[in-house]
Amino acid sequence: MRPMLQATTPTLPNPAPGPSAHDGAGPWTQGFAALGPDFTSPVGPSPLPAPYWVGRNDALAAQLGLPLDWSSSGALLETLTGNQWPEGGQQTASVYSGHQFGVWAGQLGDGRACSLGELAGQEVQLKGAGPTPYSRRGDGRAVLRSSIREFLCSEAMHALGIPSTRALCVTGSDAPVWREERETAAVVTRVAPSFVRFGHFEHFSHSGQHAQLRTLADYVIDHFYPACRTAEGADQPYVALLEAIAGRTAELVAHWQSVGFCHGVLNTDNMSILGLTLDYGPFQFLDGYQPDHICNHSDTQGRYAFYKQPNVAYWNLFCLGQALMPLIGEQEPAIAALETFKYRYPKALAARMANKLGFADPHENQRTLTESVLKLLAQEQVDFTIFWRRLSHWAAQMDTADTAVADLFLDREAATTWLADFRALHSASGTPGGAAVSTRMLRTNPKYVLRNHLGELAIRAAKNKDFSVLHQLQTVLSDPCAEHPEHDSWAGFAPDWAASIEISCSS
Ligand code: AMP
Ligand code: MG
Repeated sequence: MRPMLQATTPTLPNPAPGPSAHDGAGPWTQGFAALGPDFTSPVGPSPLPAPYWVGRNDALAAQLGLPLDWSSSGALLETLTGNQWPEGGQQTASVYSGHQFGVWAGQLGDGRACSLGELAGQEVQLKGAGPTPYSRRGDGRAVLRSSIREFLCSEAMHALGIPSTRALCVTGSDAPVWREERETAAVVTRVAPSFVRFGHFEHFSHSGQHAQLRTLADYVIDHFYPACRTAEGADQPYVALLEAIAGRTAELVAHWQSVGFCHGVLNTDNMSILGLTLDYGPFQFLDGYQPDHICNHSDTQGRYAFYKQPNVAYWNLFCLGQALMPLIGEQEPAIAALETFKYRYPKALAARMANKLGFADPHENQRTLTESVLKLLAQEQVDFTIFWRRLSHWAAQMDTADTAVADLFLDREAATTWLADFRALHSASGTPGGAAVSTRMLRTNPKYVLRNHLGELAIRAAKNKDFSVLHQLQTVLSDPCAEHPEHDSWAGFAPDWAASIEISCSS
């Protein structure tokens, strides 16, 4: 029996609006906060002393309509650290609930995130800007190390073509933040069309606030899934919504599995209704291919191990479906909508794997080839990114005398046999080795991913106020399939010390 929530959202007196100054951004619109006090609560500024820029994203700033010289604005630096309210905007935190590690956790909410409103149709959210009505026992802060990881990874994912929340900037302050040790504070400015999570729906459903549940579902449909209103059987737009979210989630997880991305904390409150990668915590790109890898040191049961991500996503969709039941009414259509995940996910994965193997579209015989190579990679924990990249180069000639791929394996015979099968499939499809196949693969299989140790290099330098590694990594990861020969070492095997990096939920 799940503990039922009290049907309340904290109602706090409105804090006096914080100081605001003309910072060159805007005009701001309200965005999600326009839904009213059942959904969001105002948050007053909790200033961080002497903020400084850590990382900035000019391309995203331009998309948001910020002035070219946005980063020279002291006022904007204050706004994006949460020290003042934006002119015409406000800081609000939203309420949501969720299942954490498979257990109903009750009310959570934005405990350290607050929205400033929308710019150019994108919700702009600060993470780490101080306590909110949903902070529970937390301090509302984020540390420099996790903020750098989120900043770099959001944009790295975007550049890989993987749906993700974006990151405009990171600002830092020398104010102490206590985790396992004394660290310093930072704020990431995140950007997305919406930060609504599965947990938002769970919140209003489990607390019996069904009118608000409907308002939320209608908001999501009208803004992001308008086709659900006109879908076949459109008297049930909420079923169509569930199916559409299942489809986006299937696409997302297929992307993750195809690049070796492990999210680390796939709780329902970290699942985006838009199918975006959301809430970067203890995530990791696999170095050696190890399907049962657990990237989160707090995940002692391995619930969120890499290979479990598709099943966990389905489980989370089931929670979303359950939350929508007061609107959907009958079980059958809801289950049918959820079932679509079971063919959407393999279909999406097949499309991703086809591209990785050099085919424009899934090949009817690619499945055996895919399964056998993943088995080989797993047997020897071969570096996932390096394998696909070397294979992409190898594909230009498909020459057995070129041993760059086979060299990655101890069982060279098995690797060579697989390469022959790979070549045979291409020959049979009329796409024998050649520049076109290789070029397609090189555009799909990145040379650079944000390996843990690369993030660590940027973090160590940034702790000494040297942001150059971060900036260089940002540049390389924004075009991860390009060669960037001057940064070849970042495309190499993870050094031994990478194994000692422990990433937990502490952030
Ligand atoms: P996460 O594991 O980061 O997805 O966070 C789970 C929940 O804990 C969310 O409601 C967060 O807002 C909240 N939370 C995490 N860290 C903090 C913190 N330092 N202060 C307040 N709330 C936090
Ligand atoms: Mg979260």
